[in-house]
Amino acid sequence: MTDAPQSKTKPNVLAPGLYLVATPIGNLRDITLRALDILGGVDVVLCEDTRIGGKLLAAHGLKSRLERYDEHAAERVRPKALALLAAGGKLALISDAGTPLVSDPGYRLVREAVDQGAAVFAAPGASAALAALTVSGLPTDRFLFAGFPPSKAAGRRELFSELAPVRATLIFYEGGPRLRASLTDMLAVFGDREAVVARELTKLHETVVRGRLADLAIDPRLDSPRGEIVVLVGPGEDRAASADEVDVALAEAVARVGPARAASEVAKALGLNRRELYARALALKGD
Ligand code: SAM
Repeated sequence: MTDAPQSKTKPNVLAPGLYLVATPIGNLRDITLRALDILGGVDVVLCEDTRIGGKLLAAHGLKSRLERYDEHAAERVRPKALALLAAGGKLALISDAGTPLVSDPGYRLVREAVDQGAAVFAAPGASAALAALTVSGLPTDRFLFAGFPPSKAAGRRELFSELAPVRATLIFYEGGPRLRASLTDMLAVFGDREAVVARELTKLHETVVRGRLADLAIDPRLDSPRGEIVVLVGPGEDRAASADEVDVALAEAVARVGPARAASEVAKALGLNRRELYARALALKGD
């Protein structure tokens, strides 16, 4: 067990350690009072982009030292950061928006800090995945965050096939230019499930489009929309797939992989018998 990160009597006295501080995902007022205490009280703030981090600190009158910690600088900066922690220093990690480590840098730093016995504290706040889940209207009891889908169609469909049997709301990050292709692949692999596209959350042009994948995949409002996007796909219903649905899923799979693997993927996704599907996959491959 580690000590409490802040003394109860002196709220601004920070314990040594690494602080993972969430910052806004759009609305600049979505920052906690504790996040500001921490950002003002640490020896150094590691951030993805010092211009963005600098603006955040300046907006709150804070003057802490900033150091870049993005995918290019991480290898060079991590040993220094770990040495500072070992010497009893206080470090904060922020990303450009939202919660660090969530589709953002920081995992290795946390892992190595934990391995060397340093204290690691969360200063929780905004994250697009949870903001989108809560407004989606989709089930919130079980969810799976899958980050950004691969940029190429084959990789994307493979990932979706892997996720299809999971009985949980699926959460993806996506960019406007790829949204249409992603929704089309989701429809092909998941079938016509309920889905939600949440765009520019907490910002001026916030929009949440709810519907079924068949409608969303052709919705003109979702044609390369600008801004930042979360796509959520409902868990799918527990009902027997029709023969047509089985054929569509198998045809999609045999176009990518061999009949045995296709049968096994579709069997898992639709809860069917692999052997029975194999014969049909062979026939479709031969067509
Ligand atoms: N660490 C961040 C978090 O906790 O949400 C996510 C960083 S990831 C590099 C950026 C992606 O998050 C965007 O491409 C978009 O998919 C999603 N995102 C960030 N801000 C958003 C917003 N305001 N509305 C919708 N999606 C957002």
